[in-house]
Amino acid sequence: MVKEPPELPQMDYGETILFLGAHCDDIEIGCGGTAAKLVAVGHKIIFAVATDCGSERQAEARAAAHIIGLNQDSIFFSTILDGKLDQNKEQLQRWFHELRQRFEPDTVFVHHADNNPDHQTVFSVAIRCFNQQTILQYYIPQMDTRRTEFSPNVTEDISEYMETKLRMCACHNSQAGKGIYLDPGTLTATAFLFFKEAHSTPKSKLSGHAEAFHIHILRRAVASHYYGEPDSTFDVVRGASAQAFRHHSYDWTNLVNGAVRVGRYVFEEFAADAVITFSGHSAIFASLVMVKVLPRERLLGMPVYLAMARDIDPAGTPPPLPGFAVVRGREGRFEVLVPHALADADPERKKNIAIIDDAITTGEAIITLKHYLLDTLEYRRASIRVGCFVCHELTTSLPDGRPDVWEFITDTTAYRLPWGDPLWFPRPGQ
Ligand SMILES: [Zn+2]
Repeated sequence: MVKEPPELPQMDYGETILFLGAHCDDIEIGCGGTAAKLVAVGHKIIFAVATDCGSERQAEARAAAHIIGLNQDSIFFSTILDGKLDQNKEQLQRWFHELRQRFEPDTVFVHHADNNPDHQTVFSVAIRCFNQQTILQYYIPQMDTRRTEFSPNVTEDISEYMETKLRMCACHNSQAGKGIYLDPGTLTATAFLFFKEAHSTPKSKLSGHAEAFHIHILRRAVASHYYGEPDSTFDVVRGASAQAFRHHSYDWTNLVNGAVRVGRYVFEEFAADAVITFSGHSAIFASLVMVKVLPRERLLGMPVYLAMARDIDPAGTPPPLPGFAVVRGREGRFEVLVPHALADADPERKKNIAIIDDAITTGEAIITLKHYLLDTLEYRRASIRVGCFVCHELTTSLPDGRPDVWEFITDTTAYRLPWGDPLWFPRPGQ
């Protein structure tokens, strides 16, 4: 059954998680609730504050960390002075490097590049230093005309940890009244808004608190517990991010990450013998990502079949396409063209077939294709797996309303390839 709200962490963060903040209160403000939750479910947590804010503020930070059970061994401070990070990037880099060597974190939480120069420096140095880790950017509330855009694409439900977060933030007595970011009203409202945005499905009347993050890069599989274990006629669909965040949007970071994850699953765990994909520029792009990232020997010689979905033309039957069987969708709105070669290549019907698409908008084309393989070509159910990278809308559901695919929704024009090169897809007009 659908689990709402989630009890387990939204993502697979790995075992050891490093939280980086420029100043003594940043971690608590941006991700204190998530840290509390991860401690509660048994993760190893490290707090690292990148500046020396003085003994009073360090004592406040230790008190905050102590609330969730972190002691001296789990919170660290660099010796770089507050406001001086930009002039001491090399020292910061060495410090991060030491933390990386010592703790080997799986996931790193870090500032998003907002308008604070120290936050920007921590972000820019961290993403270069932690190049094997999943990196999630967190948000510090700002009230400034120079406010920078924050595009979260994953949230962590902290409803059960909101009180803890407020208590952690309240430890920073010396900062009380200096800005809106430590105000309990701001913290509560921000977490409420993030929760509401993450549950922005039309029917949702849920209320709670969440922290939101932008996935800078995803190195590990996201194990979404959001919908419980995949339990559907549609097999396991694995992809980029986890939960809906701001519908009708699209994130290249997630597309790339999803392509890698789907690719790894298809080639390594499922051991596909052949792939069927649909035509489309995102699918082709994602395929290139897979070629770059995955072992080439698995890809070489792998048959890839192209299927096509086309609308049924009420004015008449479109001409047949040589080499393709025409299969009508159950909804009767379009048909799927399936290559005959697929059947000819495997008369025993024993091969493992992966169906991959970049996005599932209705799921109908994939369902049609899958049923053709099962009912007409008589493949075994266990030898077919479906994967998608991005799902625009959760319109693929089982008859009882449970989701039939995982839901991947996103929003930004920038993305970074898994091997580190930044690339930009400019918006029209830029
Ligand atoms: Zn700060």
